[in-house]
Amino acid sequence: MKKVAILNYMKFNYDGKLDFSALRSIAQISEYEFTPIEDIAKRAQDQDIIITKELSVSAEVVAALPGTVKLICEAGTGYNNIDIKAARERGITVCNVPGYSTYSVAQLAIALMLNLSSSIQKQISMLKQGNYENFTKFLQVPHHDVGGKILGVIGAGAIGRQVIKVALALGMKVLYYDVQTYNLGEDARSADLEELLKESDFISIHSPLTDKTKHLIDMNKLKMMKKSAFIINTSRGAIIKESDLIIALKEGLIAGAALDVQEVEPPAIDNPLFAMENVIMTPHIGWQTVEARQRLVEKMTENIKSFLEGRPINVVN
Ligand code: NAD
Repeated sequence: MKKVAILNYMKFNYDGKLDFSALRSIAQISEYEFTPIEDIAKRAQDQDIIITKELSVSAEVVAALPGTVKLICEAGTGYNNIDIKAARERGITVCNVPGYSTYSVAQLAIALMLNLSSSIQKQISMLKQGNYENFTKFLQVPHHDVGGKILGVIGAGAIGRQVIKVALALGMKVLYYDVQTYNLGEDARSADLEELLKESDFISIHSPLTDKTKHLIDMNKLKMMKKSAFIINTSRGAIIKESDLIIALKEGLIAGAALDVQEVEPPAIDNPLFAMENVIMTPHIGWQTVEARQRLVEKMTENIKSFLEGRPINVVN
């Protein structure tokens, strides 16, 4: 049986809830909670395949891997942690797992949008603090429909399109901005970024972080948004220039933000976003539903099975 080392399973099976039996039936598994970078090569001895989750596999680490390693399987979609060129030069295939968290991230983006529109979090915390005024007085917090409002989606890929589907079912109108052309039917219209920023009541970001999207949303763009609009980011923190967002939120240039991702993760404990009334933050949980993580294990198993059968899939180098 071929040998597979899972080098840092605590990154994705931190609760021990995932079922690896399909993988165990095709390979002999060694598991490590975490692996320091300097121990990767040692733990890869005699292994045919290594599984990493966001571990830094630099050119130096690739060079130190034993000749037995023929596949690096990244347990996630992003693979910028691995020097894929160096791996290719050593004849090591690298594969990733696209799409396992599409539903989970889309669900979170919609949940955050609904939370912002109907101030669920604010009302729950008022009750928890013993403030029952919303029962007896006129509602003290802003409370809005999303139906009839415009959702602007930046990046209409797998997650963006799932968000669009749900938004349409909620009665929203949709504008989307993408560098690729998609035909999403009559209800979701393609727009340039400026039009999307000016027209949208909610903006949800689903493009990847690249040189082109880093700080795509800066003060200049935030000023184009409606004062009543909300921005939701479940993609990558650095797509929004966080220092500009903080000013825009403080000065009321936009109504609020929901951020599953931040420019630095975890953010510094004195990051002003934590204390802002008009901000909801979650700790990069989009991909972490138990169902998404189980899909990750299943798709990783498929990657490994296909590779062992000589027809590799999801190869990124
Ligand atoms: P995808 O590749 O299917 O879609 C990305 C879309 O963005 C594509 O349509 C692409 O054309 C578009 N795009 C690329 N550059 C652009 C630009 N400059 N301007 C506008 N659009 C651009 O990816 P996906 O599966 O939908 O994932 C989207 C992003 O979500 C990922 O890149 C990742 O950063 C993020 N993500 C976050 C979590 C989380 O836990 N919060 C989990 C998974 C993915």
